[in-house]
Amino acid sequence: MIIVMEPNSTLAEIKSICEKLAGMNFSCHVISGVNQSVIGVIGEITDELCEKAQLWPKVEKALRVGKPFKLVSRECQPKGSIVKVGKVNIGKDKVVIAGPCAVETEDQMLKTAAAVKKAGASMLRGGAFKPRTSPYAFQGLKRKGLELLYEAGNLYDLPVVTEVVDPRDVEIVAQYADMLQIGARNMQNFSLLQEVGQTSKPILLKRGLSSTVQEWLMAAEYIMAEGNSQVVLCERGIRTFEPWTRNTLDVSAIALAKEVSHLPVLADPSHASGKKSLVEPLAKAALAAGADGLIIEVHPNPDQALSDGPQSLDFNEFTSFMAALGGERK
Ligand code: PEP
Ligand code: MN
Repeated sequence: MIIVMEPNSTLAEIKSICEKLAGMNFSCHVISGVNQSVIGVIGEITDELCEKAQLWPKVEKALRVGKPFKLVSRECQPKGSIVKVGKVNIGKDKVVIAGPCAVETEDQMLKTAAAVKKAGASMLRGGAFKPRTSPYAFQGLKRKGLELLYEAGNLYDLPVVTEVVDPRDVEIVAQYADMLQIGARNMQNFSLLQEVGQTSKPILLKRGLSSTVQEWLMAAEYIMAEGNSQVVLCERGIRTFEPWTRNTLDVSAIALAKEVSHLPVLADPSHASGKKSLVEPLAKAALAAGADGLIIEVHPNPDQALSDGPQSLDFNEFTSFMAALGGERK
C-alpha cells in the first residue's frame, strides 16, 4: 500500500502514521519529495486497511498496489497447477469436456457418452440442476439426472462434471460427480463457494456474466481458502453490447488469467457464442490464447434439446469439430 501524505505534512505527522502502522506489524518506507511525502507500507494489506488509512490525519490517499488474492496467484505457485479428475489431468493435457446442456433421458446420455468418447472427448458434462432465467423453464431432472449422468460416465469411462446451484445440494451432487461446476450466475454465491471449498472434489469455476478477471480470481480464492486447491477456471463469455452473439468470448481474459494465476483455464465457446457455427472458431481462438481445454455442448438432436439447442453440436458436427481441432490441441 502506498500512502500519499498531504503537501507540507510535518515529519512528526509522517512519523505518527508510521508508528501506528508499526504497531499493527507493518513496515514503512518513507520517500520524501520537495513538499510532499509518500509512505510505502509492506505487510498483509487488506481493502479495509486502505479505507481506514484514508481517514487518518494528513493522509491525502491510500492506494493498494498488491493483488488482493494470494492462493490463486502465479507468485504462489510459479509452475501451472494440474488438476486431476479421474485419469484426466487438466493443465497438462488439452482436455475436451462434452455433453448436453441438460441431462434429459437415459437414451440421450448413453448415446452422447458413446459419441463424444468415440470422437475423443475425455470428460462428460450434463446439467441435472439447471439455473434458468425463467422459473417456468426446464429446471433439470435433479437426482434422477445425477443418476443418468453417473451411469453414462461410468459405462464409457468418462469422468463427469455437473453444476451445483445450491449449498444444500453439494453433498448429493458430490456423491455422483467427479467434478463440481459453479455456474456463471453463481460465481459470487460466496456460501456456495465456501461449501464446495470444503469438499475434496475438483471445481470448475465459470466466470460470471459481468465479472472482472479479479472478481473471478477472488471467487477461486474463496474456494481455495477453504482448503480445496483443485480449481479450474472457465471463461464462458461475458455480456457486452453485441446482440448477435449470446455473450462475447473474452479471449484476453484467458491469457490474462493464465498469466496472473497458476490455475488451469478452460473455455466454453458454446455459451460464449450461443451459435453452433461459431463454436469451432472460438474454440481455436481460446486454445491459441493458452486455454488448457474446452467444454462443448453436444446433443443427439439439438433441435429437440430442452435447453441450449442452438449452441449444441450434433454427433457428426462434434466429430468434425474434434478433427478440425487436431493440431490446435497439441
Ligand atoms: C451450463 O454449463 O450449461 C451453464 C448453465 O453454464 P453458464 O453458467 O456458463 O451459463
Ligand atoms: Mn447450457
